[in-house]
Formats: sequence, structure tokens, C-alpha cells
Amino acid sequence: PITVGVLALQGGVGEHISLLQKAAAHIVTTQPEILPSDPSKTFNFLEVRTPDALAQCSALIIPGGESTTMAIVARRLGLLDPLRQFVKVEHKPVWGTCAGLVMLAEEASATKQGGQELVGGLDVRVLRNRYGTQIQSFVADLELPFLGGEQEKPFRGVFIRAPVVEEIIAPVSGGTTGVGKNGGVEVLGVYRKKGGKGEGDIVAVKQQNVFGTSFHPELTDDIRIHVWWLKRVLEGVRHGELVVSA
Ligand code: GLN
Repeated sequence: PITVGVLALQGGVGEHISLLQKAAAHIVTTQPEILPSDPSKTFNFLEVRTPDALAQCSALIIPGGESTTMAIVARRLGLLDPLRQFVKVEHKPVWGTCAGLVMLAEEASATKQGGQELVGGLDVRVLRNRYGTQIQSFVADLELPFLGGEQEKPFRGVFIRAPVVEEIIAPVSGGTTGVGKNGGVEVLGVYRKKGGKGEGDIVAVKQQNVFGTSFHPELTDDIRIHVWWLKRVLEGVRHGELVVSA
């Protein structure tokens, strides 16, 4: 099967697995033609706590939770370097939600602890806890054009001590890649407070294989982003970039 992992050190693991299962079932019933030949063997969802488990995965979700804790536990379990390898060397599809987005950023600011280890992969600097503490959590309707024709209604974005992308930074090796200042980072979603001024906050980004959202789709029953992401994973399989095990 195509093994899709959810990093299970801490945070919203079960919620992602449950939405992944629903999203997979949706794809199986609505678009069986995009699946590998044996649909019963399509996806296997795995909780990842060890380098061995990570090695089985073709794609990975890093859930929300608390990114400093996640980094400390990942370091202790010998997972930080394998994660960096997975994202930046093997270029496998990875999606980080909230704390997961922080982990996937090259830089994070406003860390009280004065620095934390990151996996990286997205050439962005995130601002942690952009909207304040837990009680300042909120839900807001987002327009997410990348969902395309699938977007009949706005997406309910759940923001819990959410980070935002504060700045898109040039890749360290930049200048010769021809991708310009943005280093290939695509802004896929913006949140603008009702009546708010300015361009709004960047809350969804993608850079090649790496995708990040400030908010928590896994805390809704809306499968659209999980469906979209699993389709990107299937595309990688079709193009032979990802291995499917027997
Ligand atoms: N504020 C948390 C962090 O910086 C993220 C919160 C979340 O994942 N809901 O890690």
C-alpha cells in the first residue's frame, strides 16, 4: 500500500487519521480511476514514533500540538534527522498543521524559549502564537482557491494558538535557482479579519513537496483539504516519485 504516516509524538494524531480515512474512502468512491490498480490496497495510515516507521512512509502529516515539545521528543527518539532527510532529501510529501507548520518552517520567531529545533523545508519564517493564548482561539471562514471546483463553501479554519507565515525568506543557496525571492513558496491561503486592513495573514503555503496550514482541518468534519492532499500524494505515486510497497 501507500503508507501515509502521522507523526505521533504529541498532538492531534487520531483526528488526522480519522479524516485521512474518510478522505481516502471519498476518493475510492468518487474517483477510483486515479487509484493504483488494487483499490483495497491503496492507503495504509500509520502512527509514526520511530525512524523505522518513518522509513515505511511515502508521505507524512505533522499534526498540531506544541512544537517545542514535539522537537524535544523527536530529538530524543532520534527522529529529527530522519525527518529532515524525509522532507529535504527524499522530497516526500509532508503536511504540517499548526505546530506542524512551525516544525516545517526554516525559521520561527517569538519563541519564548529563545530558539527551538525545526525540521525545515519551507523557506518561511513563522511567527508562533500570532493570535495570543489558548482563550484567543477562534474559527473563521477562509476562501481557499486551491481547493478549486471542490470549494462550494468557505473552509472553517480552526485557529488555536496558531502560527502565521510572517515572511517568505530566500533559500540559503538562493540566487542561482531562478525561482526568485520567493524561493518557490506559494501562498495558498490568507486570513483577513472582517473589516481588517492590509493584506491579511498567510495561513497556508506550499513549496514543492511541503505544505503547511496555520489552522486545523482535522478538528472539523470537512475532508476537502485531506482529499486534496491525498490526491497530490497519489500524483506522486503515478509519476513514480513515490514507492508503493506490496
Ligand atoms: N502554539 C503552538 C506552537 O507554537 C501551536 C498550537 C497548535 O498546534 N494548535 O507550537
